[in-house]
Amino acid sequence: MALQKGERYRCPESDCGCEIEVTKSAAPGKGGDQAPRCCCGKEMKKVS
Ligand SMILES: [Zn+2]
Repeated sequence: MALQKGERYRCPESDCGCEIEVTKSAAPGKGGDQAPRCCCGKEMKKVS
């Protein structure tokens, strides 16, 4: 799924712990379904 406004993603690396919030949704049909990647290289997990 594409990034949606308001979604939060957190880095699973305990030493890092970076968390981001989407402030603007991706345009429909333009994105893939990949999760964003943290600056440390880990794939970020959506915070539910
Ligand atoms: Zn990280």
